[in-house]
Amino acid sequence: MRGLAELTTLRLGGPAERLADAFGEAELVAAVREADAAGVPLLVLAGGSNVVVADAGFPGLVVRVRTRGVAATGGALEVAAGEDWDELVARCVRSGLAGVECLSGIPGSVGATPIQNVGAYGQEVAETIVAVRVLDRADGEVRELAAAECGFAYRSSAFKRTPGRWVVLAVRFVLAERAVSAPIRYAELARALGIEEGATAPLADVRGAVLALRRGKGMVIDAADTDSVSAGSFFTNPVLAAADFAALEARARARLGGDVRVPRFPAPGGEVKTSAAWLIERAGFTRGHGDPAAIAVSAKHTLALTNRGAGTTAQLVALAREIAAGVEEAFGVALEPEPVFVGHAW
Ligand SMILES: Cc1cc2nc3c(=O)[nH]c(=O)nc-3n(C[C@H](O)[C@H](O)[C@H](O)COP(=O)(O)OP(=O)(O)OC[C@H]3O[C@@H](n4cnc5c(N)ncnc54)[C@H](O)[C@@H]3O)c2cc1C
Repeated sequence: MRGLAELTTLRLGGPAERLADAFGEAELVAAVREADAAGVPLLVLAGGSNVVVADAGFPGLVVRVRTRGVAATGGALEVAAGEDWDELVARCVRSGLAGVECLSGIPGSVGATPIQNVGAYGQEVAETIVAVRVLDRADGEVRELAAAECGFAYRSSAFKRTPGRWVVLAVRFVLAERAVSAPIRYAELARALGIEEGATAPLADVRGAVLALRRGKGMVIDAADTDSVSAGSFFTNPVLAAADFAALEARARARLGGDVRVPRFPAPGGEVKTSAAWLIERAGFTRGHGDPAAIAVSAKHTLALTNRGAGTTAQLVALAREIAAGVEEAFGVALEPEPVFVGHAW
């Protein structure tokens, strides 16, 4: 029995009944098939940066994805699921491959990036992923899913919507051979680079600016930064139907004053994305809220919940529920957690 806390960036979670490392794709496939044949509950774990594991742990087999390998074939990069995501981004930036530079500094593995369609600073992996090789646990077969079959959406995908069905074995990316970035679509990043929104910048400059912005928010894992002991953003930004956004604006004006401007960003299908951090702050939760020795809101970013050392998962979930209830009461918006709950439910 080994505590899963040491395998998660939140440093939370009880023991796994069994733990196995898979260093090769065949080993990973065999371990999953075996567990499925025996009816053993299975958790596929990689960097542990997007999971909230119960204090009671996981009553089954945890397989850690530790496969390695990056192959350049016909203009594409095929990358094993266990490769470190940020090492891949750094390598692309060094090699003059554009398309993932804004995703610098995100912890975890390459294989987890399609799961929640990892995104930041106006970019998401769905823009450069062309195919994902998976083990389909529905029939035990290895197959390739084209990007269109992955159902990518904001912080979501078919993998996230049908949890556990597919084990990602490798991801194929097509990047642009170019020394400058894709057009920068995120105002804060454009300002940091000293360029207009929609303009481009050298890849290395974009990576540097993103890493600096992220460090300022405790969003780069750093042993010296207690604010980085988190699962990143704890809540996704709410995506609302136009009528629900109008209702939110009315409530915000009634509560905060007539000239208040609720953040709004266009989302597909005429919906509106708003800012979870803005809602949390305006509902009265400040940075550092919570127990400074256990579980508290990050001192650098309202959207991250952190373990200050003595926390438990139960305390983390209690704080998350307190925040979600406060936002719901103030604004009528239900926040959804971004990380995956293991051994318990939201
Ligand atoms: C400080 C910090 C900052 C972050 N910033 C961002 C950000 O800017 N944008 C963003 O999108 N995310 C962010 N995250 C969240 C996280 O880094 C990403 O979701 C990352 O892709 C998770 O990778 P992982 O290898 O750690 O996954 P894990 O935490 O190990 O797993 C996450 C989920 O994916 C599943 N999974 C993992 N690997 C596989 C596989 N090969 N096949 C099938 N299922 C698999 C697991 O079962 C689990 O359900 C941040 C996290 C932290 C701690």
